[in-house]
Amino acid sequence: MQSQEWRLFRYAGFRIRFPDVAQNDLMSESFNHSNMSLTVMKFGGTSVGDAERIRQAATIVKAHAQAGNDVIVVVSALSQVTDLILNVLNAARLGDRRVMEEGLLQLASRHEQVLSDLSLGEELNQVLSDVRATLQRLREFCSALLLLRVATRQVMDVALPLGEQISARIFEACLNQLEAKGKFVDSARVLVTDDKFGDASPDMESTRRRCGEVLLPLLREGQIPVVMGYSGATHAGQVTTLGRGGSDYSATIIGAAMDADEVWIWTDVDGVLTADPRICSDAITLPEITFAEAIELSYYGAKVIHRKAIRPTMEQGIPVWIKNSFKPELQGTKIVKSLPPSNRPVKAVTAVTQASLVTLTTRWDVHFAEVFGRLFLSLGHENIDILFSTQSSSEDSLGLVLREQDTEHVVRSIQKLFRTELKHGVLNPVEVHKDVAVIAVLGSDMKGTCGILGRLFSAVARNDVSVIAVAQGASELNICFAVTAARANEVIKAVHQEFLSPGTEKMRPRPKIH
Ligand code: ADP
Ligand code: ASP
Ligand code: MG
Repeated sequence: MQSQEWRLFRYAGFRIRFPDVAQNDLMSESFNHSNMSLTVMKFGGTSVGDAERIRQAATIVKAHAQAGNDVIVVVSALSQVTDLILNVLNAARLGDRRVMEEGLLQLASRHEQVLSDLSLGEELNQVLSDVRATLQRLREFCSALLLLRVATRQVMDVALPLGEQISARIFEACLNQLEAKGKFVDSARVLVTDDKFGDASPDMESTRRRCGEVLLPLLREGQIPVVMGYSGATHAGQVTTLGRGGSDYSATIIGAAMDADEVWIWTDVDGVLTADPRICSDAITLPEITFAEAIELSYYGAKVIHRKAIRPTMEQGIPVWIKNSFKPELQGTKIVKSLPPSNRPVKAVTAVTQASLVTLTTRWDVHFAEVFGRLFLSLGHENIDILFSTQSSSEDSLGLVLREQDTEHVVRSIQKLFRTELKHGVLNPVEVHKDVAVIAVLGSDMKGTCGILGRLFSAVARNDVSVIAVAQGASELNICFAVTAARANEVIKAVHQEFLSPGTEKMRPRPKIH
């Protein structure tokens, strides 16, 4: 590259940063699509769950493209396929050949059924042979695991995105069948990440460049790129995944990298609701929420958006829509930069149901802040999310509420970090309280509204549930508290009933403190 300088260009209604070297090319006549807007559309597992759903999704894409928009599609694997791949890999790793073979058979028959239901015509044989080749790779991979009996996160990341590889190939064929010019794109070519296998984060600068190199020419040719969600690759080309549910994140990363006008996340519910509708049947769709609220919601377990997906688009102010692919006529939820104050202090309730509370106490009169400062620094370096923490100076104790999957690792880190302190009794042995759920009550208008905490904990107490730990963020965007996991759903329902159920006068504004 002649120059490291980047310039801003306006193309197709969005801005892309190109290196100087490409400038002449990009400014040529053929490059000028200036009135079109770019939408990144992501379809989740249920939205591509079977042939009918895939055809519906492809029809949505085609209609939007025909209305004069550029579209980039990001797809998840067919519903439950990633779970199935995971089971197959685990079975192989543990030497269970029978379960492995059953899983491989299930994967083959599921995809072949979809292909036969799609009646792809001429392209069928080619797609079928591509799908079979991908499944053959998975089989060979499993055979290697059967011998090795071990699989690191890096090894798992090679095989886990195979579901997306198949679904993106099928989606491409379905678009072509509708004469909409789909083009399969391997995510490893466009999405550059760090090497945190299993939970990778993007290198935005490199991703931006790759998207410009790979996706832009396709758009210029009037094609619709169909990118595999969930995965990417490091600079060295090692495949990575972005964490479970990561296709949302893929879509917002690509949306930000391409300076898209909007990102639309198609799923199986009407948008972001006041609670998980599987728990609260009377949950209602929120027409709009802010990026900050969406981040909190997803961080605290609302599965509808991946916990890291909002950040890339938030930084550029690109609106994200959550829409129901089963009811495309509905508007859905728009996630925006800011909203005027509403008369609803509480907007939603959500939960992380697999968490634990790790408690550390100092035995002697030690410098508490220094000890725990070292701990936070070390957890930060290891990229561990702390759901919330509580500190009490008088007892010299610190409570960390963590995702269950991180707990063992954190306990080991504490034991390593404070080996000497634990050995000499400066710190008491680490206590772990498992099977905890974190309930998060969210809403930017809770700030300064009186009486929320009182109403909240009265509602919880009426259900005879005891609260294990509590935290209210200084931003007052959320109130988090931990309860026994087994009671989580009751608590969510009680909180929803208190603040959010439709038709209750409780939704009326509360007096504000001035
Ligand atoms: P996809 O396969 O489309 O990515 P997910 O299953 O990951 O879909 O996410 C959608 C699911 O998220 C919904 O079916 C719903 O049960 C769950 N969910 C949890 N909390 C919420 C919420 N606050 N609003 C909407 N859906 C929620
Ligand atoms: N298929 C992946 C998963 O199930 C990614 C996604 O669906 O977003 O986690
Ligand atoms: Mg999802």
